[in-house]
Amino acid sequence: MSWWQIVLIVLASVAGMELFAWWAHKYVMHGWGWAWHRDHHEPHDKTLEKNDLFAVVFGTIVFVMFAIGYYMSDALWWTAFGITVYGVIYSVVHDGLVHQRYFRWVPRRGYAKRLVQAHKLHHATVGKEGGVSFGFVFARNPLRLKEELRCQRETGQAVVRERTDL
Ligand SMILES: [Zn+2]
Ligand SMILES: [Zn+2]
Repeated sequence: MSWWQIVLIVLASVAGMELFAWWAHKYVMHGWGWAWHRDHHEPHDKTLEKNDLFAVVFGTIVFVMFAIGYYMSDALWWTAFGITVYGVIYSVVHDGLVHQRYFRWVPRRGYAKRLVQAHKLHHATVGKEGGVSFGFVFARNPLRLKEELRCQRETGQAVVRERTDL
């Protein structure tokens, strides 16, 4: 494989994973997978969450992809690599930056601040219904998201917390 094919595959899998993560978060985690995702939305003082099991499942799938790719397909191996890159970005942004599980830095401006606000607004709803901002790396304007939350509260689509801690 040439280097530009590799770069293309890695970039496409990183971008594809953001789409997949959005879809899985909205329809699986807030759908039939809610039993695992629920404790991520509720206050607690435990180190691990049941929600972390999703990372174990995705990690196992990627491990299998690496193994099959190693013997059969370079493209599959590099796709698995791209997914891993996304996993690292996701972990730094979601677990690190937003939830401060292994470092504490509160961004005051720029896109990093927007990312934190957008995901905190995801946590503004109670229960699995409704909600905004299901992606992790691509964040919409927080003002728009607040508007949408207000709308969901008024139409009864979601239970929204009074204070969103922003
Ligand atoms: Zn969620
Ligand atoms: Zn979160």
